Amino acid sequence: MKLRKVTAAAATALVLSLTATACGGDDGNDESGSGSSGGGDKIKIGIKYDQPGLGLKEPSGDFSGFDVDVATYVAKELGYEPDQIEWVETKSADRENALARGDVKFIAATYSITDERKEKVDFAGPYLLAHQDLLVKKDSDITEATDLNNKKLCSVAGSTSAQNIKDELAPDAQLRENGTYSECIAGLQSGAVDALTTDDSILAGFAAQDQYQGQFKLTGLKLSNENYGVGVKKGDTETVNKINEALEKMVSDGAWETAVKDNFGPAEYKNEPAPKIGDIVS
Ligand code: GLU
Repeated sequence: MKLRKVTAAAATALVLSLTATACGGDDGNDESGSGSSGGGDKIKIGIKYDQPGLGLKEPSGDFSGFDVDVATYVAKELGYEPDQIEWVETKSADRENALARGDVKFIAATYSITDERKEKVDFAGPYLLAHQDLLVKKDSDITEATDLNNKKLCSVAGSTSAQNIKDELAPDAQLRENGTYSECIAGLQSGAVDALTTDDSILAGFAAQDQYQGQFKLTGLKLSNENYGVGVKKGDTETVNKINEALEKMVSDGAWETAVKDNFGPAEYKNEPAPKIGDIVS
């Protein structure tokens, strides 16, 4: 009996140590590669799950989009093959906390570089310049941001899109802040809201979905400059530098342009040229 107990305990210890080896411990650090020069067992990367063309979890369980391609390229440069990537959903309002907690090694999730965010996280990049825009029904008479005042508008909590509306673009709009943009588009389709605002890159991806074909239009207003950066835990300069090198390489070897064509082509999104590292358009 005693022997069996010892054996069971030993077996448990073995399982635990194997689990620790496979998963890199439970603090998320080894698993995400924090503190090392990369090349651990797994890397956790934050993306969006519901933004077609940028970060999407497909019904098959596969992941697609420009951010996914950028993140996969960067991970490879950090020493991780695609099958070592563990994708984690990081909604707009969760990104700073996910990095601070060490839930993910980095975030590529339509994450605009802003001074306010830079107080909490560090950014590599930028790797894409997008612009805030409005998505409205095909027959809508909303053509300017000021047309939104007193109208029902949907955006996402924790986004620059919602903040810009409140601060300056249309402070008198009836702003509904959801957790994700896919919740907003459902409201736009049903008529519960008059417009959806966020980056044109995201809106183009939604509008091009089969189920929405011909229903919506982008106003093309370029209401802001959204410089997408790769978010990294505050103080992790080593990772920021490595990601910047990876992003430069991605542009110079043509992989950036390929990712643009693959992901924005279907939505006919006219993207800006590749930005230079550190070149923030204000
Ligand atoms: N790029 C903007 C932001 O970082 C809007 C898109 C988003 O919510 O991710 O807030």
